[in-house]
Amino acid sequence: MSDDSKVNDNTPGDRVIEKKDSDELQSGYMSDALVVKQKLDSVSPSMCLAKWTQVSIHLTNGHTQSCYHPPVHKIPIKEVEANPSALHNTSYKKLQRKKMKEGERPSECQYCWNIEDAPGNHLSDRHYRSGEEWAVEMYDEIVNQPYDYDVKPRYVEVNFNHACQLSCSYCSPHISSSWNDEITKQGPYRMAEYEHNSLDWVKLAKLTPIRQDQPNPYRDAFWKWWPEIYPELRVFRMTGGEPLLDVNTFKVLDYVIEHPSPKLQIAITSNMSTKPELMDKFIKKSKIIADGKLIDHLALFASVDSVGKQAEYIRHGLNFDTFLKHVNRYLSEVNANSVSFINTFNVMSVTGLHGFVDMVLDLRSKHSHTFQRVWFDTPMLRYPGWQSVQILPERYQGIIEEVIRYMKKFPETRETRLRGIKDFEVAKLERVLAWMKLGVSPQVLEKERANFYFFFTEHDKRRGTNFLEAFPEMLDFWELCEAASKKFPRNY
Ligand code: SF4
Repeated sequence: MSDDSKVNDNTPGDRVIEKKDSDELQSGYMSDALVVKQKLDSVSPSMCLAKWTQVSIHLTNGHTQSCYHPPVHKIPIKEVEANPSALHNTSYKKLQRKKMKEGERPSECQYCWNIEDAPGNHLSDRHYRSGEEWAVEMYDEIVNQPYDYDVKPRYVEVNFNHACQLSCSYCSPHISSSWNDEITKQGPYRMAEYEHNSLDWVKLAKLTPIRQDQPNPYRDAFWKWWPEIYPELRVFRMTGGEPLLDVNTFKVLDYVIEHPSPKLQIAITSNMSTKPELMDKFIKKSKIIADGKLIDHLALFASVDSVGKQAEYIRHGLNFDTFLKHVNRYLSEVNANSVSFINTFNVMSVTGLHGFVDMVLDLRSKHSHTFQRVWFDTPMLRYPGWQSVQILPERYQGIIEEVIRYMKKFPETRETRLRGIKDFEVAKLERVLAWMKLGVSPQVLEKERANFYFFFTEHDKRRGTNFLEAFPEMLDFWELCEAASKKFPRNY
Protein backbone atom coordinates (compact mmCIF):
# COMPACT_ATOMS: atom_id res chain seq x y z
CA MET A 1 0.00 0.00 0.00
CA SER A 2 1.45 3.38 -0.95
CA ASP A 3 1.87 6.22 1.53
CA ASP A 4 -0.33 8.55 -0.46
CA SER A 5 -3.38 6.34 -0.06
CA LYS A 6 -5.84 5.99 2.75
CA VAL A 7 -7.47 2.76 3.79
CA ASN A 8 -11.19 2.80 4.29
CA ASP A 9 -11.71 -0.10 6.65
CA ASN A 10 -15.28 0.43 7.75
CA THR A 11 -16.83 -2.46 5.85
CA PRO A 12 -16.00 -6.06 6.82
CA GLY A 13 -14.03 -7.88 4.11
CA ASP A 14 -14.34 -4.89 1.81
CA ARG A 15 -11.48 -2.49 2.42
CA VAL A 16 -10.91 0.12 -0.22
CA ILE A 17 -8.11 2.55 -0.86
CA GLU A 18 -8.85 6.07 -1.99
CA LYS A 19 -6.55 7.01 -4.85
CA LYS A 20 -4.94 10.42 -4.58
CA ASP A 21 -5.50 11.46 -8.19
CA SER A 22 -8.84 9.86 -9.03
CA ASP A 23 -12.35 9.36 -7.74
CA GLU A 24 -12.12 5.60 -8.25
CA LEU A 25 -11.49 3.35 -5.28
CA GLN A 26 -8.89 0.60 -5.35
CA SER A 27 -9.95 -2.54 -3.53
CA GLY A 28 -7.87 -3.73 -0.61
CA TYR A 29 -8.06 -7.19 -2.20
CA MET A 30 -6.03 -6.03 -5.20
CA SER A 31 -3.53 -3.96 -3.26
CA ASP A 32 -2.97 -6.85 -0.79
CA ALA A 33 -2.17 -9.13 -3.74
CA LEU A 34 0.37 -6.61 -5.05
CA VAL A 35 2.00 -6.26 -1.62
CA VAL A 36 2.26 -9.99 -1.00
CA LYS A 37 3.76 -10.52 -4.46
CA GLN A 38 7.02 -8.98 -3.21
CA LYS A 39 7.00 -11.13 -0.08
CA LEU A 40 6.47 -14.27 -2.14
CA ASP A 41 9.19 -13.30 -4.59
CA SER A 42 11.62 -12.94 -1.72
CA VAL A 43 11.13 -16.67 -1.01
CA SER A 44 10.94 -17.93 -4.60
CA PRO A 45 9.16 -17.19 -7.90
CA SER A 46 6.80 -20.14 -7.37
CA MET A 47 5.95 -19.60 -3.69
CA CYS A 48 2.26 -19.64 -2.77
CA LEU A 49 0.86 -19.51 0.75
CA ALA A 50 -2.36 -21.22 -0.34
CA LYS A 51 -0.54 -24.58 -0.41
CA TRP A 52 -0.25 -24.33 3.38
CA THR A 53 -3.11 -22.14 4.52
CA GLN A 54 -5.99 -23.35 2.38
CA VAL A 55 -7.46 -26.80 1.85
CA SER A 56 -10.43 -28.48 0.21
CA ILE A 57 -11.18 -31.90 1.69
CA HIS A 58 -13.52 -34.29 -0.08
CA LEU A 59 -14.79 -36.35 2.81
CA THR A 60 -17.08 -38.34 0.50
CA ASN A 61 -14.14 -40.17 -1.06
CA GLY A 62 -10.99 -39.19 0.83
CA HIS A 63 -9.34 -36.68 -1.51
CA THR A 64 -7.71 -33.33 -0.89
CA GLN A 65 -6.24 -30.38 -2.80
CA SER A 66 -4.60 -27.04 -2.01
CA CYS A 67 -5.89 -24.72 -3.29
CA TYR A 68 -8.95 -25.83 -5.26
CA HIS A 69 -7.30 -25.39 -8.69
CA PRO A 70 -4.91 -28.37 -8.70
CA PRO A 71 -6.44 -31.81 -9.25
CA VAL A 72 -7.42 -33.66 -6.09
CA HIS A 73 -5.15 -36.39 -4.74
CA LYS A 74 -5.93 -39.36 -2.52
CA ILE A 75 -5.45 -39.08 1.24
CA PRO A 76 -3.62 -42.28 2.25
CA ILE A 77 -5.84 -44.05 4.75
CA LYS A 78 -2.84 -45.04 6.91
CA GLU A 79 -1.72 -41.41 7.17
CA VAL A 80 -5.16 -40.17 8.23
CA GLU A 81 -5.70 -42.99 10.72
CA ALA A 82 -2.40 -42.14 12.39
CA ASN A 83 -2.99 -38.38 12.28
CA PRO A 84 -6.25 -36.64 11.32
CA SER A 85 -4.29 -33.59 10.13
CA ALA A 86 -3.30 -35.72 7.10
CA LEU A 87 -6.68 -34.62 5.73
CA HIS A 88 -4.59 -31.59 4.72
CA ASN A 89 -0.94 -32.48 5.39
CA THR A 90 -0.50 -35.49 3.10
CA SER A 91 3.04 -36.58 2.24
CA TYR A 92 2.28 -35.71 -1.43
CA LYS A 93 1.26 -32.13 -0.59
CA LYS A 94 4.36 -31.65 1.55
CA LEU A 95 6.48 -32.41 -1.52
CA GLN A 96 4.64 -29.73 -3.54
CA ARG A 97 5.36 -27.26 -0.72
CA LYS A 98 9.05 -28.20 -0.91
CA LYS A 99 9.05 -27.46 -4.65
CA MET A 100 7.47 -24.07 -4.05
CA LYS A 101 10.01 -23.10 -1.41
CA GLU A 102 12.81 -24.14 -3.75
CA GLY A 103 11.50 -22.18 -6.75
CA GLU A 104 10.16 -25.11 -8.77
CA ARG A 105 6.67 -24.74 -10.25
CA PRO A 106 4.46 -27.66 -9.19
CA SER A 107 2.78 -28.83 -12.41
CA GLU A 108 -0.52 -29.23 -10.53
CA CYS A 109 -0.71 -25.40 -10.28
CA GLN A 110 -0.88 -24.91 -14.07
CA TYR A 111 -3.96 -22.67 -13.59
CA CYS A 112 -1.73 -19.96 -12.13
CA TRP A 113 1.22 -20.50 -14.46
CA ASN A 114 -1.14 -20.06 -17.46
CA ILE A 115 -2.27 -16.70 -16.14
CA GLU A 116 1.22 -15.54 -15.22
CA ASP A 117 2.57 -16.57 -18.65
CA ALA A 118 -0.30 -15.00 -20.65
CA PRO A 119 0.53 -11.71 -22.43
CA GLY A 120 0.11 -8.72 -20.11
CA ASN A 121 1.00 -8.46 -16.48
CA HIS A 122 -1.72 -10.43 -14.74
CA LEU A 123 -1.91 -11.27 -11.08
CA SER A 124 -2.76 -14.94 -10.62
CA ASP A 125 -4.61 -16.61 -7.77
CA ARG A 126 -1.18 -17.33 -6.28
CA HIS A 127 -1.08 -13.62 -5.44
CA TYR A 128 -4.76 -13.11 -4.62
CA ARG A 129 -4.96 -16.13 -2.31
CA SER A 130 -1.61 -15.48 -0.66
CA GLY A 131 -2.71 -11.87 -0.13
CA GLU A 132 -5.75 -12.85 1.95
CA GLU A 133 -5.42 -11.66 5.54
CA TRP A 134 -5.65 -15.21 6.90
CA ALA A 135 -2.80 -16.30 4.61
CA VAL A 136 -0.44 -13.35 5.11
CA GLU A 137 -0.63 -13.67 8.90
CA MET A 138 0.97 -17.13 8.55
CA TYR A 139 3.82 -15.95 6.30
CA ASP A 140 6.57 -15.94 8.96
CA GLU A 141 5.52 -19.30 10.40
CA ILE A 142 5.46 -20.92 6.95
CA VAL A 143 8.78 -19.45 5.86
CA ASN A 144 10.52 -20.40 9.12
CA GLN A 145 9.15 -23.92 9.56
CA PRO A 146 10.50 -26.91 7.61
CA TYR A 147 8.50 -27.71 4.46
CA ASP A 148 7.09 -30.90 6.00
CA TYR A 149 5.60 -29.59 9.24
CA ASP A 150 1.89 -30.21 9.98
CA VAL A 151 0.29 -26.85 9.41
CA LYS A 152 -3.12 -25.89 10.83
CA PRO A 153 -4.91 -24.33 7.86
CA ARG A 154 -6.89 -21.13 8.22
CA TYR A 155 -9.22 -21.75 5.27
CA VAL A 156 -10.89 -25.16 5.21
CA GLU A 157 -13.47 -26.33 2.73
CA VAL A 158 -15.22 -29.69 3.03
CA ASN A 159 -17.96 -31.60 1.31
CA PHE A 160 -19.77 -34.04 3.56
CA ASN A 161 -22.07 -35.57 0.99
CA HIS A 162 -22.68 -35.77 -2.77
CA ALA A 163 -26.49 -35.55 -2.48
CA CYS A 164 -27.71 -32.95 -4.96
CA GLN A 165 -30.99 -32.34 -6.74
CA LEU A 166 -29.33 -30.66 -9.76
CA SER A 167 -27.27 -32.17 -12.58
CA CYS A 168 -25.25 -29.26 -13.96
CA SER A 169 -23.70 -29.72 -17.38
CA TYR A 170 -20.09 -29.57 -16.16
CA CYS A 171 -20.62 -31.71 -13.06
CA SER A 172 -19.96 -35.43 -12.45
CA PRO A 173 -21.61 -38.48 -10.85
CA HIS A 174 -19.25 -38.47 -7.85
CA ILE A 175 -20.24 -34.87 -7.01
CA SER A 176 -23.97 -34.98 -7.72
CA SER A 177 -26.29 -37.86 -6.82
CA SER A 178 -28.66 -36.74 -9.62
CA TRP A 179 -25.85 -37.20 -12.14
CA ASN A 180 -25.08 -40.56 -10.57
CA ASP A 181 -28.73 -41.67 -10.94
CA GLU A 182 -28.84 -40.61 -14.59
CA ILE A 183 -25.62 -42.43 -15.51
CA THR A 184 -26.68 -45.53 -13.59
CA LYS A 185 -29.93 -45.68 -15.60
CA GLN A 186 -28.83 -44.41 -19.01
CA GLY A 187 -25.08 -44.96 -19.16
CA PRO A 188 -22.28 -42.50 -19.95
CA TYR A 189 -22.31 -39.90 -22.72
CA ARG A 190 -20.54 -41.04 -25.92
CA MET A 191 -18.02 -38.41 -26.95
CA ALA A 192 -15.50 -38.13 -29.82
CA GLU A 193 -12.99 -40.54 -28.35
CA TYR A 194 -14.20 -41.48 -24.91
CA GLU A 195 -17.22 -42.00 -22.71
CA HIS A 196 -18.01 -39.01 -20.50
CA ASN A 197 -18.97 -39.39 -16.84
CA SER A 198 -18.79 -43.17 -16.92
CA LEU A 199 -19.07 -44.85 -13.54
CA ASP A 200 -16.10 -47.05 -14.54
CA TRP A 201 -13.98 -43.91 -14.81
CA VAL A 202 -15.22 -42.70 -11.41
CA LYS A 203 -14.25 -46.08 -9.94
CA LEU A 204 -10.87 -46.14 -11.69
CA ALA A 205 -10.09 -42.64 -10.41
CA LYS A 206 -11.08 -43.88 -6.92
CA LEU A 207 -13.66 -41.11 -6.67
CA THR A 208 -16.69 -43.26 -5.86
CA PRO A 209 -18.40 -41.66 -2.85
CA ILE A 210 -18.64 -43.71 0.32
CA ARG A 211 -22.32 -44.42 0.90
CA GLN A 212 -23.92 -42.38 3.68
CA ASP A 213 -24.87 -45.51 5.64
CA GLN A 214 -21.30 -46.92 5.48
CA PRO A 215 -18.41 -46.17 7.89
CA ASN A 216 -16.39 -43.21 6.62
CA PRO A 217 -12.88 -42.87 8.14
CA TYR A 218 -12.39 -39.44 6.53
CA ARG A 219 -15.53 -37.98 8.09
CA ASP A 220 -14.54 -39.53 11.44
CA ALA A 221 -11.05 -37.99 11.13
CA PHE A 222 -12.64 -34.62 10.33
CA TRP A 223 -14.71 -34.58 13.52
CA LYS A 224 -11.60 -35.62 15.52
CA TRP A 225 -9.52 -32.82 13.95
CA TRP A 226 -12.28 -30.16 14.12
CA PRO A 227 -11.85 -29.03 17.79
CA GLU A 228 -8.09 -28.76 17.18
CA ILE A 229 -8.34 -26.46 14.15
CA TYR A 230 -11.56 -24.62 15.06
CA PRO A 231 -10.07 -21.92 17.37
CA GLU A 232 -7.67 -20.65 14.67
CA LEU A 233 -9.94 -21.16 11.70
CA ARG A 234 -10.69 -18.01 9.76
CA VAL A 235 -12.85 -19.44 6.97
CA PHE A 236 -14.80 -22.67 7.04
CA ARG A 237 -16.67 -23.47 3.88
CA MET A 238 -19.13 -26.26 3.20
CA THR A 239 -19.81 -27.44 -0.35
CA GLY A 240 -21.47 -30.52 -1.80
CA GLY A 241 -23.43 -31.88 -3.50
CA GLU A 242 -25.84 -29.53 -1.90
CA PRO A 243 -24.75 -28.90 1.72
CA LEU A 244 -28.24 -27.98 2.91
CA LEU A 245 -29.23 -31.61 2.21
CA ASP A 246 -26.68 -32.94 4.75
CA VAL A 247 -27.05 -33.23 8.54
CA ASN A 248 -23.36 -32.44 9.12
CA THR A 249 -23.90 -28.91 7.78
CA PHE A 250 -26.44 -28.24 10.52
CA LYS A 251 -24.15 -29.97 13.05
CA VAL A 252 -21.46 -27.39 12.17
CA LEU A 253 -23.93 -24.50 12.52
CA ASP A 254 -25.00 -25.87 15.94
CA TYR A 255 -21.33 -26.16 16.99
CA VAL A 256 -20.79 -22.54 15.98
CA ILE A 257 -23.83 -21.47 18.01
CA GLU A 258 -22.28 -23.26 21.04
CA HIS A 259 -18.75 -21.96 20.39
CA PRO A 260 -18.73 -18.33 19.22
CA SER A 261 -15.54 -17.43 17.34
CA PRO A 262 -15.31 -13.71 16.54
CA LYS A 263 -12.77 -14.02 13.72
CA LEU A 264 -14.46 -16.89 11.91
CA GLN A 265 -16.25 -16.68 8.61
CA ILE A 266 -18.65 -19.52 7.82
CA ALA A 267 -19.31 -20.02 4.14
CA ILE A 268 -21.79 -22.30 2.44
CA THR A 269 -21.89 -23.02 -1.27
CA SER A 270 -25.49 -23.69 -2.11
CA ASN A 271 -27.62 -23.96 -5.22
CA MET A 272 -30.34 -22.16 -3.20
CA SER A 273 -32.95 -24.45 -4.69
CA THR A 274 -33.83 -26.76 -1.80
CA LYS A 275 -37.32 -27.31 -0.39
CA PRO A 276 -38.81 -24.44 1.67
CA GLU A 277 -38.54 -26.44 4.98
CA LEU A 278 -34.77 -26.73 4.60
CA MET A 279 -34.44 -23.10 3.57
CA ASP A 280 -36.46 -22.14 6.70
CA LYS A 281 -34.19 -24.22 8.94
CA PHE A 282 -31.07 -22.72 7.36
CA ILE A 283 -32.34 -19.15 7.66
CA LYS A 284 -33.39 -19.72 11.29
CA LYS A 285 -29.91 -20.92 12.35
CA SER A 286 -28.22 -18.22 10.25
CA LYS A 287 -30.29 -15.60 12.07
CA ILE A 288 -29.21 -16.91 15.49
CA ILE A 289 -25.56 -16.71 14.40
CA ALA A 290 -25.86 -13.30 12.75
CA ASP A 291 -28.09 -11.64 15.38
CA GLY A 292 -25.89 -12.92 18.22
CA LYS A 293 -22.74 -11.71 16.40
CA LEU A 294 -21.29 -15.16 17.15
CA ILE A 295 -18.81 -15.05 14.28
CA ASP A 296 -17.29 -12.42 12.02
CA HIS A 297 -19.36 -13.15 8.97
CA LEU A 298 -21.74 -15.58 7.32
CA ALA A 299 -21.13 -15.92 3.58
CA LEU A 300 -23.29 -17.71 1.10
CA PHE A 301 -21.77 -18.75 -2.23
CA ALA A 302 -24.52 -19.22 -4.76
CA SER A 303 -23.53 -21.04 -7.93
CA VAL A 304 -25.08 -19.60 -11.07
CA ASP A 305 -23.42 -19.03 -14.44
CA SER A 306 -25.91 -16.81 -16.25
CA VAL A 307 -29.48 -15.62 -15.73
CA GLY A 308 -33.00 -16.84 -16.58
CA LYS A 309 -33.55 -19.85 -18.82
CA GLN A 310 -29.87 -19.90 -19.84
CA ALA A 311 -28.84 -20.37 -16.21
CA GLU A 312 -31.46 -23.14 -15.96
CA TYR A 313 -30.06 -24.87 -19.04
CA ILE A 314 -26.47 -24.85 -17.71
CA ARG A 315 -27.54 -26.10 -14.27
CA HIS A 316 -30.23 -28.65 -15.03
CA GLY A 317 -32.96 -28.76 -12.39
CA LEU A 318 -32.50 -25.11 -11.38
CA ASN A 319 -35.53 -22.84 -11.24
CA PHE A 320 -34.01 -19.39 -11.64
CA ASP A 321 -36.97 -17.48 -10.15
CA THR A 322 -36.95 -19.67 -7.03
CA PHE A 323 -33.19 -19.26 -6.79
CA LEU A 324 -33.44 -15.47 -6.91
CA LYS A 325 -36.34 -15.48 -4.44
CA HIS A 326 -34.25 -17.49 -1.94
CA VAL A 327 -31.25 -15.19 -2.41
CA ASN A 328 -33.39 -12.10 -1.78
CA ARG A 329 -35.00 -13.74 1.23
CA TYR A 330 -31.62 -14.65 2.71
CA LEU A 331 -30.34 -11.10 2.26
CA SER A 332 -33.52 -9.52 3.64
CA GLU A 333 -34.08 -11.77 6.68
CA VAL A 334 -30.52 -12.31 7.92
CA ASN A 335 -28.23 -9.43 8.87
CA ALA A 336 -24.44 -9.35 8.71
CA ASN A 337 -24.22 -11.78 5.85
CA SER A 338 -23.38 -11.69 2.17
CA VAL A 339 -23.96 -13.57 -1.05
CA SER A 340 -21.27 -14.28 -3.65
CA PHE A 341 -22.38 -15.49 -7.04
CA ILE A 342 -19.99 -18.02 -8.54
CA ASN A 343 -20.17 -17.85 -12.30
CA THR A 344 -18.06 -20.80 -13.43
CA PHE A 345 -17.28 -19.07 -16.66
CA ASN A 346 -17.93 -21.37 -19.60
CA VAL A 347 -19.09 -21.36 -23.24
CA MET A 348 -22.68 -20.69 -22.19
CA SER A 349 -21.88 -17.85 -19.75
CA VAL A 350 -20.82 -15.39 -22.44
CA THR A 351 -24.04 -14.22 -24.06
CA GLY A 352 -25.82 -13.80 -20.70
CA LEU A 353 -22.92 -11.95 -19.07
CA HIS A 354 -24.49 -8.52 -19.48
CA GLY A 355 -27.67 -9.68 -17.70
CA PHE A 356 -25.57 -11.33 -14.99
CA VAL A 357 -23.72 -8.06 -14.27
CA ASP A 358 -27.06 -6.21 -14.19
CA MET A 359 -28.41 -8.72 -11.66
CA VAL A 360 -25.41 -8.04 -9.40
CA LEU A 361 -25.77 -4.25 -9.73
CA ASP A 362 -29.48 -4.49 -9.00
CA LEU A 363 -28.97 -6.61 -5.86
CA ARG A 364 -26.19 -4.29 -4.68
CA SER A 365 -28.48 -1.30 -4.87
CA LYS A 366 -31.21 -3.23 -2.99
CA HIS A 367 -29.14 -4.82 -0.23
CA SER A 368 -25.70 -3.18 0.13
CA HIS A 369 -26.26 -0.10 2.26
CA THR A 370 -23.69 -0.17 5.04
CA PHE A 371 -21.32 -2.87 3.81
CA GLN A 372 -20.90 -4.93 0.65
CA ARG A 373 -23.34 -7.85 0.74
CA VAL A 374 -23.35 -8.85 -2.93
CA TRP A 375 -20.22 -10.20 -4.61
CA PHE A 376 -19.40 -12.20 -7.68
CA ASP A 377 -16.52 -14.18 -9.09
CA THR A 378 -15.83 -15.55 -12.56
CA PRO A 379 -13.47 -18.54 -12.24
CA MET A 380 -12.72 -20.00 -15.66
CA LEU A 381 -14.04 -23.44 -16.41
CA ARG A 382 -11.20 -25.62 -17.75
CA TYR A 383 -12.77 -29.09 -17.59
CA PRO A 384 -14.56 -30.47 -19.47
CA GLY A 385 -12.55 -28.85 -22.31
CA TRP A 386 -15.59 -28.78 -24.59
CA GLN A 387 -17.28 -26.28 -22.30
CA SER A 388 -14.24 -24.00 -22.11
CA VAL A 389 -14.55 -20.51 -23.62
CA GLN A 390 -11.34 -21.22 -25.54
CA ILE A 391 -13.34 -23.12 -28.18
CA LEU A 392 -15.66 -20.21 -29.01
CA PRO A 393 -15.26 -18.25 -32.27
CA GLU A 394 -13.59 -14.85 -32.06
CA ARG A 395 -16.81 -12.83 -32.10
CA TYR A 396 -17.58 -14.03 -28.53
CA GLN A 397 -14.44 -12.27 -27.30
CA GLY A 398 -16.06 -9.08 -28.57
CA ILE A 399 -19.12 -9.74 -26.38
CA ILE A 400 -16.92 -9.99 -23.28
CA GLU A 401 -14.98 -6.87 -24.30
CA GLU A 402 -18.25 -4.99 -24.61
CA VAL A 403 -19.37 -6.13 -21.14
CA ILE A 404 -16.00 -5.08 -19.71
CA ARG A 405 -16.51 -1.61 -21.23
CA TYR A 406 -20.01 -1.60 -19.70
CA MET A 407 -18.64 -2.59 -16.26
CA LYS A 408 -16.05 0.17 -16.46
CA LYS A 409 -18.87 2.69 -16.77
CA PHE A 410 -19.91 1.84 -13.19
CA PRO A 411 -16.65 1.85 -11.19
CA GLU A 412 -16.85 1.95 -7.43
CA THR A 413 -16.16 5.56 -6.44
CA ARG A 414 -16.78 7.53 -3.25
CA GLU A 415 -20.16 8.40 -4.68
CA THR A 416 -21.09 4.89 -5.84
CA ARG A 417 -19.52 3.14 -2.84
CA LEU A 418 -21.02 -0.38 -2.44
CA ARG A 419 -23.07 -0.01 -5.63
CA GLY A 420 -20.36 0.09 -8.32
CA ILE A 421 -18.14 -2.52 -9.95
CA LYS A 422 -14.85 -3.24 -8.20
CA ASP A 423 -11.45 -3.07 -9.94
CA PHE A 424 -10.64 -6.73 -9.31
CA GLU A 425 -13.99 -7.81 -10.75
CA VAL A 426 -12.99 -6.18 -14.03
CA ALA A 427 -9.42 -7.51 -13.72
CA LYS A 428 -10.66 -11.06 -13.25
CA LEU A 429 -12.84 -10.88 -16.33
CA GLU A 430 -9.95 -9.36 -18.30
CA ARG A 431 -7.78 -12.29 -17.41
CA VAL A 432 -10.54 -14.71 -18.50
CA LEU A 433 -10.53 -12.86 -21.82
CA ALA A 434 -6.72 -13.00 -22.10
CA TRP A 435 -6.83 -16.75 -21.46
CA MET A 436 -9.70 -17.21 -23.92
CA LYS A 437 -7.64 -15.45 -26.60
CA LEU A 438 -4.81 -17.97 -26.18
CA GLY A 439 -7.17 -20.50 -27.77
CA VAL A 440 -6.26 -24.16 -28.39
CA SER A 441 -4.61 -26.03 -31.26
CA PRO A 442 -6.75 -26.66 -34.40
CA GLN A 443 -6.91 -30.40 -33.61
CA VAL A 444 -8.11 -29.83 -30.04
CA LEU A 445 -10.55 -27.19 -31.25
CA GLU A 446 -12.22 -29.58 -33.72
CA LYS A 447 -12.41 -32.40 -31.20
CA GLU A 448 -13.79 -30.28 -28.38
CA ARG A 449 -16.39 -28.66 -30.63
CA ALA A 450 -17.45 -32.15 -31.75
CA ASN A 451 -17.69 -33.13 -28.09
CA PHE A 452 -19.83 -30.10 -27.35
CA TYR A 453 -22.24 -31.22 -30.05
CA PHE A 454 -22.23 -34.87 -28.91
CA PHE A 455 -22.80 -33.95 -25.29
CA PHE A 456 -25.62 -31.46 -25.75
CA THR A 457 -27.54 -33.43 -28.42
CA GLU A 458 -27.57 -36.34 -25.96
CA HIS A 459 -28.33 -33.97 -23.05
CA ASP A 460 -31.34 -32.58 -24.95
CA LYS A 461 -32.58 -36.08 -25.78
CA ARG A 462 -32.27 -37.41 -22.24
CA ARG A 463 -33.47 -34.34 -20.37
CA GLY A 464 -36.07 -32.93 -22.77
CA THR A 465 -34.13 -29.69 -23.26
CA ASN A 466 -33.20 -27.77 -26.40
CA PHE A 467 -29.89 -25.95 -26.71
CA LEU A 468 -30.97 -23.66 -29.55
CA GLU A 469 -34.19 -22.67 -27.78
CA ALA A 470 -32.16 -21.61 -24.75
CA PHE A 471 -29.30 -20.04 -26.79
CA PRO A 472 -30.73 -18.98 -30.20
CA GLU A 473 -27.97 -16.38 -30.51
CA MET A 474 -25.36 -19.16 -30.52
CA LEU A 475 -26.53 -20.81 -33.73
CA ASP A 476 -23.20 -20.00 -35.49
CA PHE A 477 -21.24 -21.86 -32.81
CA TRP A 478 -23.68 -24.79 -32.77
CA GLU A 479 -23.31 -25.22 -36.54
CA LEU A 480 -19.52 -25.23 -36.23
CA CYS A 481 -19.82 -27.92 -33.55
CA GLU A 482 -22.19 -29.97 -35.68
CA ALA A 483 -19.79 -29.77 -38.64
CA ALA A 484 -16.88 -30.83 -36.41
CA SER A 485 -18.89 -33.81 -35.10
CA LYS A 486 -18.98 -35.29 -38.63
CA LYS A 487 -15.22 -35.83 -38.44
CA PHE A 488 -15.48 -38.08 -35.39
CA PRO A 489 -17.51 -41.20 -36.19
CA ARG A 490 -17.51 -42.55 -32.60
CA ASN A 491 -16.85 -46.10 -33.75
CA TYR A 492 -15.34 -47.27 -30.45
S1 SF4 B 1 -0.14 -21.55 -7.16
FE1 SF4 B 1 -2.26 -21.14 -7.79
S2 SF4 B 1 -3.16 -23.19 -8.14
FE2 SF4 B 1 -1.31 -23.46 -6.88
S3 SF4 B 1 -2.02 -23.43 -4.78
FE3 SF4 B 1 -1.42 -21.33 -5.30
S4 SF4 B 1 -3.32 -20.35 -5.98
FE4 SF4 B 1 -3.66 -22.54 -6.03
